[in-house]
Amino acid sequence: MSITIALAGNPNSGKTTLFNLLTGSSQYVGNWPGVTVERKEGLYKKEQDIRIVDLPGIYSLSPYTLEEVVSRDYLINEKPDVIINIIDATNLERNLYLTTQLIELGLPVVVALNMMDLVDKTGEKILTDELEDHLGCKVVKISALRKTGIEELIDTCKKEKDRKVVIKEEYSAELEKFITSTEEVSSKIKNSIASRFLAIKLLENDEKIFEKLNLDSSELSKVKEITERMENEFDDDGEGIITDARYTFVSKITKHIVKNKRAGLTTSDKIDRVVTNRFLAIPIFAVFMFAIYYISIKVGNDIVGEWVNGTLIEGIIQGGATNLLEGWGVADWLISLVVDGIIGGVGGVIGFLPVIAFLYFFIAILEDIGYMSRIAFILDRVLRKFGLSGKSFIPILIGMGCSIPGIMATRTIESDKDRRLTIMVASFMPCGAKTDIIALFAGAIFVGKWWFAPICYFAGILAVIISGVILKKTKAFIGEAAPFVMELPAYHMPILSNILRTTWQRLKAFIIKAGTIILLSSIVIWLLSNISTTGKFVEFSDDSHSILEAIGRFIAPIFAPLGFGDWTATVASIMGLVAKEMVVGTYGVVSGLGELGADDPTLLEFAAKSFTTVTAMSFMMFNQLTVPCFAAVGAIRSEMKSAKWTLATIAYQVLFSYTIALMIYQFGRILILGEALNIWTGVAIVILLVYLFLLFRASKKRELTGKL
Ligand code: GDP
Ligand code: MG
Repeated sequence: MSITIALAGNPNSGKTTLFNLLTGSSQYVGNWPGVTVERKEGLYKKEQDIRIVDLPGIYSLSPYTLEEVVSRDYLINEKPDVIINIIDATNLERNLYLTTQLIELGLPVVVALNMMDLVDKTGEKILTDELEDHLGCKVVKISALRKTGIEELIDTCKKEKDRKVVIKEEYSAELEKFITSTEEVSSKIKNSIASRFLAIKLLENDEKIFEKLNLDSSELSKVKEITERMENEFDDDGEGIITDARYTFVSKITKHIVKNKRAGLTTSDKIDRVVTNRFLAIPIFAVFMFAIYYISIKVGNDIVGEWVNGTLIEGIIQGGATNLLEGWGVADWLISLVVDGIIGGVGGVIGFLPVIAFLYFFIAILEDIGYMSRIAFILDRVLRKFGLSGKSFIPILIGMGCSIPGIMATRTIESDKDRRLTIMVASFMPCGAKTDIIALFAGAIFVGKWWFAPICYFAGILAVIISGVILKKTKAFIGEAAPFVMELPAYHMPILSNILRTTWQRLKAFIIKAGTIILLSSIVIWLLSNISTTGKFVEFSDDSHSILEAIGRFIAPIFAPLGFGDWTATVASIMGLVAKEMVVGTYGVVSGLGELGADDPTLLEFAAKSFTTVTAMSFMMFNQLTVPCFAAVGAIRSEMKSAKWTLATIAYQVLFSYTIALMIYQFGRILILGEALNIWTGVAIVILLVYLFLLFRASKKRELTGKL
């Protein structure tokens, strides 16, 4: 006999930890049908006939967020055999709010009091027997992290599965009479959902439930009449009354069941006093991040990366492959395709792996111990102003390693709008590969100007902010942001297996994309750059008349208003679409210098002659802000789950980078280089005015529809 168990609980209550523990590696991750919220399913590793379904983290079963709707629909329609309501026991009162709604569903519920290890440390006692009495369902104490109480939890579920559920919870005599009269209506409607759940949702004016039940007019007027009487008696709207009743109920039982309630500050509270301090929080965070980047780049790039790039890829793999193929008498063009095109293209990306691995390892530590959720919380107030959420910051941070895992990290953002917006802006920060272009100009043009690299990062932040403000005012993103409510879990010592798993998941995303999309585009680009317009195999160079060169020459005039309208810079930018670190290498090749690193003196000298401060800045910003590499576009496509949104993102990024670079060049040309005004000055002024308008126009408030 197989059993389906659904895990429901607040975000951060430990659902994922429990789910991973129960299912081991036998899990299936996908999306809920039709929506982008993650769907996780797996089999209990000790008994393969127990299926575990992880529902999205929620605070309530109301219809306001996608997560709530997904969870509710699942519970109502699929009717799992048992619901495990996982609760952060250090935060009972807040968590039990959801419990009141789950028990109303009329399905067997087992409450798992998680994080008992933390509760035990404080000496606090939770009286589970009494809690069971109040709720009318079983309660089991567990610690998902320390792996205690898990078997008892599953055993209890197996026993509870066939129990006839009687809903015991009562709010207050005054309220119960309204619920009972509504239940008279809801129990008559042919439906398999518990009549009490329906009655309460009807009193809450839950539109989705009204839609679902399709009441006839006499039922409808009866419900309206009861609701009105209730609203008059309590002098509040239906939803407010019920919410209040739930809170009162929950706080009453919490008082009864918690003994030795701790007084004073826990260790976590003490740490929080410092790290979330109003003045210290951001500086402390900045120091952490600086240290992380410093170590990652020092160790990852300068030590491991050098070896991977120079010795392993160039020396052993490329050198070995060349020798081998030459030995077999393979044609030159094929050797070039394999060694330069394929191995070179993919290897260039793999070369970033060490830095990114270190970076993600450290970020995962900060996430695991509970520090990152605090920072997200602190930044939320600021980011809200730009249409983003506190949770947008982790994707943007991760994007500074590589945009692909950054874009994938947007999955943790519950609200659809926040998530889409974050995906659209996540690649504006310089990723590991873009730092090559920064290095080129820092060495060639902005020599001794320490501020150049920081300015690129600052420009990235500014681009995120500007885009957030502008896009938030458009129809697709308008609307109140979902409030950021989040349990802040107590700090705990880092757990290596968690950290390695997170790091590996992010790296894997990066490797898979590099192995597929980058492989394909490397081949295409090799063909375009090594076949001449007359169809002959040529060595790609400054005068090889390759197809790529022809394309570059054709497109180049488009970039003239940005100050780099020659075909070499154009081709370099096109290559950037394959992978941004190819911009510098390509630039060297098409300039007739050969493939040189960003710190090569010949290349620096050449770049210093062909760029001015203004054109360098314009070129830099165009490449930084424009569409990221194809692999990242692939990630955008798979996270947006919509061709329309992917195209919108690409269009926005092209338009944004083009107009920003145009303004930089046109204004810089006049203000810094003292050149004469021309027609493009006018265009730049018009663009500036449009931006100012988009930034400062009044935001239309969302029209409230229905009974929200
Ligand atoms: P979810 O948002 O519900 O999926 O929660 P997670 O599983 O991601 O857990 C949130 C945080 O709580 C993580 O940092 C976990 O390591 C931590 N956590 C989960 N269960 C326990 C537990 O039993 N004890 C302690 N001390 N921490 C836990
Ligand atoms: Mg989770």
